[in-house]
Amino acid sequence: MATATTGYTLKCVPNGHPNSEEETTTYCTECGSVLRVDYDQPSEDLQYPLKNILPDPLKTHPTALKRLGRLSETYGADLWTKLEFEHPTGCFKDRGSYIEVQKARELEADAICLASTGNMAASVAAYACYFNIPCFVFVPEKTTEAKLAQATIFDANIIRIKGSFSTCEQLCREFAKSGNYYLAGDFVFREEGQKSFTYELVDQGGSDMDYIFIPVGCGTNFSAIFKGYKEMREGGLIDRIPKLVAIQPDQSSPVVEGIFKKEKIVKEQVQTMASSVAVPDPVDFYKVLEGIDQSEGMAFTVSEDEILDALKELAVTEGDFVEPAGALPLAAFKKHNEQFSGKKCLFVATGTGFKDTQVVTKHSLNSPVLSADLKKVISYVNSGFIGMQKKSWGKSRDTFMANLKMDKEHEQLYNDYVSKINKKGKTLSNNEIEVLQSLIFDEDTDLKYPVEVLDYKLIMRKHGLVQATVKLSLEGREVVSESKGVGPIDAVLTAIRTETDNVFPLVVENHEIDILSPDTDSLVTVTLTLRNGEQQWVSKGASPDTLEAVIQAFTKGLAIAMKGSHV
Ligand SMILES: *Cc1c(COP(=O)(O)O)cnc(C)c1O
Ligand SMILES: [Zn+2]
Repeated sequence: MATATTGYTLKCVPNGHPNSEEETTTYCTECGSVLRVDYDQPSEDLQYPLKNILPDPLKTHPTALKRLGRLSETYGADLWTKLEFEHPTGCFKDRGSYIEVQKARELEADAICLASTGNMAASVAAYACYFNIPCFVFVPEKTTEAKLAQATIFDANIIRIKGSFSTCEQLCREFAKSGNYYLAGDFVFREEGQKSFTYELVDQGGSDMDYIFIPVGCGTNFSAIFKGYKEMREGGLIDRIPKLVAIQPDQSSPVVEGIFKKEKIVKEQVQTMASSVAVPDPVDFYKVLEGIDQSEGMAFTVSEDEILDALKELAVTEGDFVEPAGALPLAAFKKHNEQFSGKKCLFVATGTGFKDTQVVTKHSLNSPVLSADLKKVISYVNSGFIGMQKKSWGKSRDTFMANLKMDKEHEQLYNDYVSKINKKGKTLSNNEIEVLQSLIFDEDTDLKYPVEVLDYKLIMRKHGLVQATVKLSLEGREVVSESKGVGPIDAVLTAIRTETDNVFPLVVENHEIDILSPDTDSLVTVTLTLRNGEQQWVSKGASPDTLEAVIQAFTKGLAIAMKGSHV
């Protein structure tokens, strides 16, 4: 059972200075360190530091405690997972947001604000929305679309910032002072919410774990789980605490490195696909240190390849699709397998794979778009592409497309593309080579191009208008076409269409631009959806230059459309 109580004090962790929550809910006013809720009385109930507690309006059931039967067999240990991604927003953070939002209301804040790598933004937005309190979220520019979509649908005020999570955090901390705002985040009341993990686990019969593997970013969840154990032990509900294992990617490991040095480290640069744990300055470092010391736990790092590997293995063998951070436990376990032989281990599956589908797209070969033609489908199935697509996952893929059965014409076409790109002084990365090959894979080799773009020029006008001058070769004639548009892509396409619409009219219904890497000369793929009457075509172009990719996609699309319509 959960009970609300006002019988507690906020104390800072290293010095025990008492603090008033009307003054601060983040850092000690005396020494600046993190705070913790210290209850006057141990209890048999889960205690929450609130005057009143409302039932969680979004969560309908505890997250599943599931045995990983196949993995247990493979690795000779008793392996379990707690599916924390079963929370309403797909991540364990809901446990903390549920309590933080109620605390913000109790303190009569005008709004909540927080910095987040995405999941906390989604989670606090959901609870703030339900409890009718405005919410400001500061997120780094790289936040995944799914996480942003969640914050958007729950009416958060989204502030996207150039820079890392730590930049967002500093800025948000300043912003919080500009009004009567509750600064949410990895602070004292979140820990109180997230400790319910332990109560739930014990309630489900999971009290006899030897090890609990926890992905660590700020360290708040780790320390919350540990606090749950301590309070359950003080309340006489359990008598032992499992060994807690903190895991970080080796590309972003200030906590793990700090554990070995016994002092807090700040890392300027963190680069990992596990974006939810990419935290340069881990707020709760000292709490993690304490949790590891007192539980006789340990700390590991894992590589990016090991994360990818574990993510795939969880999905394929056990049916659990997690985001990269959620794969850290299995990755660490596998790396130190012998150490855990025969032990009962719990992996905390922190977030769902739907949060970050980009990682999957990026690390496996794209499926080519085939024409609706059974012969083509069968030849595709027999080409070996699909088998290689499966094998391509997370491996170094240097020689990987070499085995693909491309016919002469397609090989020629591919070489043409590559030489054009090389002429721009660019060498293609492996990933770019694969994308290009899968794009060309289904291209018609006997297409007749009615139009060729010989040259183009852009002039910027007022109010974001762009004027394009395009020199075309249209059915053998040279013509110059001029047009204005909102932005360069619109201007160029409109100029081309002014002429080509006389031959075959096409409406550009949609364009998608995919930049493959953060490099300035990254290959860009452009996908256009084109329409004429009831008929629709999709066409792609690829080049390091976005406009050229657009032009390529359009001229090819026109060729495909005219061929398909027997013009
Ligand atoms: C926030 C988060 C973590 C890290 O939790 P901390 O409390 O910051 O240590 C791990 N995985 C996922 C999916 C998260 O959203
Ligand atoms: Zn203090």
